Amino acid sequence: MRHVAIIGSGPAGYYTAEAVQKAFGEEARIDVFDCLPVPYGLIRTGVAPDHQSIKGVSRRYEQTALSENVRFVGNITVGKDVTIPELQDLYDAVVLATGAPVDRPLDLPGDDLPNVFGSAAFVGWYNGHPQFADLAPDLSGKTAVVIGMGNVALDVARILSKSRREFEGSDIVGHALDLLGQSRIERIVILGRRGPHQIMMTPKELGELAKLDRASPHVDKRDLPDEGEDAILEPGLRKSVTLLRGFAAIPEAIHAEKPIEIEFDFFASPKALIGNGRLEAIEVERTEVRTGRAHGTGEIYRIPAGLVVCCIGYRSSPIPDVPFDERQGRFANDEGRIMPGLYCVGWARRGPSGTIGTNRPDGFDIADKIAQDAASGVLGPANKHGRPAFDTLARERGLKLVTFRDWKKIEEAEERAARDGAPREKFVDIGSMMKALD
Ligand code: NAP
Repeated sequence: MRHVAIIGSGPAGYYTAEAVQKAFGEEARIDVFDCLPVPYGLIRTGVAPDHQSIKGVSRRYEQTALSENVRFVGNITVGKDVTIPELQDLYDAVVLATGAPVDRPLDLPGDDLPNVFGSAAFVGWYNGHPQFADLAPDLSGKTAVVIGMGNVALDVARILSKSRREFEGSDIVGHALDLLGQSRIERIVILGRRGPHQIMMTPKELGELAKLDRASPHVDKRDLPDEGEDAILEPGLRKSVTLLRGFAAIPEAIHAEKPIEIEFDFFASPKALIGNGRLEAIEVERTEVRTGRAHGTGEIYRIPAGLVVCCIGYRSSPIPDVPFDERQGRFANDEGRIMPGLYCVGWARRGPSGTIGTNRPDGFDIADKIAQDAASGVLGPANKHGRPAFDTLARERGLKLVTFRDWKKIEEAEERAARDGAPREKFVDIGSMMKALD
């Protein structure tokens, strides 16, 4: 019997559990840990609440979670409640699937002003992540600036623009829905330090901006390269750029029907956040792109801003006793191997890129490596005690484990509390989640 501990119950964690199960069959016992009492990581707290079909993938993870040799162990923070060396003593393989939950810092003067948020915090707020539920952003200013031209920037701009009606069927948490209902935002500027050919936005997500009740996307056609130059782009990016061309052609009369303007500001690199105890503006330098890189032109301008959300990527969170690559913001690893018996997978391995599905081959690859290491003797003899030994340790420490069956009770309580038409109303603090188990 091989005992495997997977730390993190998001897509990378559950795809790895599925893959280990397939590789070892009945010969493996898999414990999937999470610091929250609820599973699924980014599916619950990262994927936009109005993208319910994407969240449907959790049904696949549930099948894995309910299988005989897989167990969910919620409410345990690895590195605090139990250390990595302790887990390595108990399990043959420990796999870090902890994602990249920390915002990449903007590192600019004024970035500590109130109402300047990273996307982990802002997205966590509207998705009910217990760490960010109290964020209470001030939406009373007329202009919001979203930094970055990736899919997270699109999520944030779209959520800021939607009407209450457009959130029907979503699981946006009540506190965010109420605050967004009072928003005075009329202009959302999406700031990109490079040009239309360098955006990271994918076509399906970009196309949604043209279908909003109250907002319309504005692109200045002077920012677009000659159409002939699109031929060199890979097909997905070419589609996105075609959408931008469509936005640039939207007639003024159509824009006039929508009270919120979503403006793409290309070739615009943030330089400083301006304000005296209160955010007032963002200072930006105009750039030009040469051989794919942005170069400042020295032209500086200011955009008045009441809210800034930085959607510039994420970093993993270090765990004591695990080598960390500070520059890359992820665990130091060689194709997923950190040291004998310790692995990482998904964003914790490769950084925050790709889609949810990208984590599946990653999970299968790491399961192969565990199987190879078991066969070649790297993992040592199969004599570790795994689950029962962990449970003894947890009891001794007074840790309150949350099982998958417990999670189903929390889920039922969230479903019972749902607004009309919504799938659930999430608990946004750990105390309420635990109370639902009483
Ligand atoms: P991303 O795709 O890597 O985009 C980050 C953006 O931030 C880029 O435009 C980048 O510009 C910009 N940026 C980075 N550092 C900057 C700085 N210092 N100043 C100004 N701009 C800066 O990251 P993301 O949007 O956080 O998305 C993360 C991953 O999740 C991606 O794989 C994404 O596709 C995925 N995701 C998918 C969905 C979906 O499929 N619906 C939704 C959300 C997220 P440069 O290119 O110039 O560096």
